[in-house]
Amino acid sequence: MSESYDIVIVGGGMVGASLAAALAPLPLRVAVIEALPPTSSEQPSYDDRATAVAYGSRRIFDAMGCWRALESAATPIRRIHVSDRGRFGFTRMDSRDYGLEALGYVIENRAIGPALWDQIGGHDNLRMICPARVSALTVAGDGAEVTVSREDGGSERFGAALVVAADGARSPLRELAGIDNDSRDYGQTAVIANVSTSQPHANEAFERFTEHGPLAMLPMAGRRCSLVWTMAPEAAARVLAAPEDAFLDELQQAFGFRLGRIERVGRRQSYPLTLVRAGSQTAPRVALIGNAAHALHPVAGQGFNLGLRDVAALAEVLAAAVRDGDDPGGASVLEAYEQWRCEDHERVITLTDSLVRLFTNPLGPVKAARGLALLGLDLLPAAKAGFVRQTTGLAGRLPRLARGLPVA
Ligand SMILES: Cc1cc2nc3c(=O)[nH]c(=O)nc-3n(C[C@H](O)[C@H](O)[C@H](O)COP(=O)(O)OP(=O)(O)OC[C@H]3O[C@@H](n4cnc5c(N)ncnc54)[C@H](O)[C@@H]3O)c2cc1C
Repeated sequence: MSESYDIVIVGGGMVGASLAAALAPLPLRVAVIEALPPTSSEQPSYDDRATAVAYGSRRIFDAMGCWRALESAATPIRRIHVSDRGRFGFTRMDSRDYGLEALGYVIENRAIGPALWDQIGGHDNLRMICPARVSALTVAGDGAEVTVSREDGGSERFGAALVVAADGARSPLRELAGIDNDSRDYGQTAVIANVSTSQPHANEAFERFTEHGPLAMLPMAGRRCSLVWTMAPEAAARVLAAPEDAFLDELQQAFGFRLGRIERVGRRQSYPLTLVRAGSQTAPRVALIGNAAHALHPVAGQGFNLGLRDVAALAEVLAAAVRDGDDPGGASVLEAYEQWRCEDHERVITLTDSLVRLFTNPLGPVKAARGLALLGLDLLPAAKAGFVRQTTGLAGRLPRLARGLPVA
């Protein structure tokens, strides 16, 4: 006999846990099945990274009632400086020019996990099942069933009207649901670490395009920054293994002296970068969200923010189904979700992919053109405002949560 829920979310990482929290006010019974607790050293979502949470995502968290728990761990980004190493063009964006308190906030992933899981633990209609790994899916006309393998070798089944895949870029559930994907290796690796600098960042984030790939320094508490440094895999292996002094020298050369001397570096880690796009966002009784639907290059910090808008849209479509007495896993819900999300996905994937292609192209005329593009962005307020609207998550058809309204 299987236990039954309205919604089963597979994956309790940053996006899956956010969906559960967003569904809390609805009269739906929700289970989240997660393979690894947030404190596990193997946890792929709540790891050593820090996430640039866009202003639009802050609004979503606020409307979900999660922001209070995240706020003390969040460092506001008030300005962003974008430059091309060794070229003339640069541009700067300032939150005050757009009437925003901040363009975004930097939060360590390890702080996001416990805040979301605590939120889930506080609601009777939400249940976290962990550690437990989904290993099979069966779909019938009126529902779906997932099989969960437990650590002790046992297994259990859970029934649901809708199963949501929030199980990351390699998404076993996407495969079990028969949804194909397009995947392209960027041939780049992101090296991440926390660094401290001799000069304060004054809440400014830096995105610097270098000949090897983009380098971001995101402001954190004190004089610390979260570094995301993208380069070829062989170069990444070298800087990961380099002694601290050599690492700091190379980073200083690539970043320059805008924050004075880069004095210390914490634990370094690396992530191979691949663009993954699911062929469809839905299958019968299944919806994809977050990296299971789209895994992006981290340039411009868009992946989680796009996933959180999946969350807000799916929660709203489900709220409408509840209101109208519709089946939450029925075809009309899945169709509404798929149609809503495709435009935002397309826009963000095109934006991040074009930035990577444009700024890693070694050809002289392309290098000159991107200097002009940065200069143009700086001189054309309307173009810059459009870029800011997109990257802060305030463009296109916004779900209720992204407008600061309750989901229902
Ligand atoms: C270096 C780097 C920097 C980034 N910086 C930013 C940024 O600044 N801003 C931003 O918006 N985005 C950023 N991103 C992207 C962001 O990290 C991802 O979009 C986000 O983590 C995706 O979360 P997710 O929950 O969809 O997937 P994941 O984080 O992969 O979580 C999937 C979860 O599913 C669980 N799981 C997997 N399989 C199963 C199974 N069979 N059964 C049960 N559970 C399972 C896993 O244990 C995990 O907890 C960055 C990415 C990288 C690589």
